[in-house]
Amino acid sequence: MDEGRTDIKLLSKSELQDLMNDIGEKPFRGKQIFKWIYKGVDDFAEMTDLSSALRSKLAQKAYIGRLKVEDKQESEDGTVKFLYRLNDGNCIETVFMKYRYGNSICVSSQAGCRMGCTFCASGKYGLSRDLYAGEIADQIIQTEKNTGQKIGHVVVMGTGEPFDNYDNVSEFIRRINDRDGSGIGMRNITVSTSGIIPVIDRFGRDFPQAGLAVSLHAPTDELRNRTMPVNRKYPVEELIKACRKYTGDTGRRITFEYAVINGFNDTDHYIGLLAELLKGMLCHVNLIPLNEIEDGRDLEGNDLHAGSRKRAGEIAEYLEKQGIPATVRRSLGRDIDAACGQLRLRKSK
Ligand code: SAH
Ligand code: SF4
Repeated sequence: MDEGRTDIKLLSKSELQDLMNDIGEKPFRGKQIFKWIYKGVDDFAEMTDLSSALRSKLAQKAYIGRLKVEDKQESEDGTVKFLYRLNDGNCIETVFMKYRYGNSICVSSQAGCRMGCTFCASGKYGLSRDLYAGEIADQIIQTEKNTGQKIGHVVVMGTGEPFDNYDNVSEFIRRINDRDGSGIGMRNITVSTSGIIPVIDRFGRDFPQAGLAVSLHAPTDELRNRTMPVNRKYPVEELIKACRKYTGDTGRRITFEYAVINGFNDTDHYIGLLAELLKGMLCHVNLIPLNEIEDGRDLEGNDLHAGSRKRAGEIAEYLEKQGIPATVRRSLGRDIDAACGQLRLRKSK
């Protein structure tokens, strides 16, 4: 169906300008097309500031690719979870959330993930492939169309490790931040990583205004190794050192994600060590009771169970007393397959 034609959704603004140049058009036409794409137009006929001759030339040479809604679940609290189908048949998840401060979206950066965290549904079947920048951005474009609502905040916290696909993720950030693109402010864009140290430094230099979240989940190597294989390559002490450098370089507060796992990382012993580790740091701890997945075990074969919200609250209180800002994350979409990767996993069975 798309033989030999280019999917212009995958092109950057400058690539669109080059394409116009190649077909004998003025480069600024590329910018006009870029603007239309981010307005959600998926037919060249609607690009009314282009001549009809150019529009038909484009339709011959190119097409506007689009994520298709494979499944959709709506929660009573306004959260909508989309399962989108990519052109090659792979599926990815996107979650739309309503907050007091506005609408937010959680996008996926890869189809699957190769980091293998044992508590995570996305890590279960490994990496299928990286997403292109245009496919990450299309999650925003299509979700705005499908919900009829404007999105003001973006978190790269869906399936995938964004720093394992950094070229596409950084290009995605540039496109959605561009005034001709989605026009989302840097301060409203947050990326979450499992802790790929060299890219943390690079991200801080590339996007000093954007937000960074780090999935810590354990304060020692011995404990973190049991659920997060990435820790063998990038251990806790070095990770925290890189985080301190990041906050020093950017002046931005880091969010540490801590999934509360009953009797595993929520004991007084480990919470005490967590407080010691983070003391004096420009950070914030986000506690969330583990979302249990099927067969969720640590690498020694022990079952992983959710800690209670009450325990999460106690931990937050303790950390606050130690001078470390901490909150229990509001859990949206509890009545749907809310945890990252769960819908995709269920549908692929
Ligand atoms: N790969 C990145 C971003 C995607 S995962 C990362 O790991 O940071 C987004 C967040 O969800 C991470 O903090 C991750 O640790 C957390 N997470 C994954 N599975 C979870 C589960 N079952 N319960 C609670 N949090 C989970
Ligand atoms: Fe990948 Fe993040 Fe899941 Fe770990 S928690 S497997 S890094 S998506």
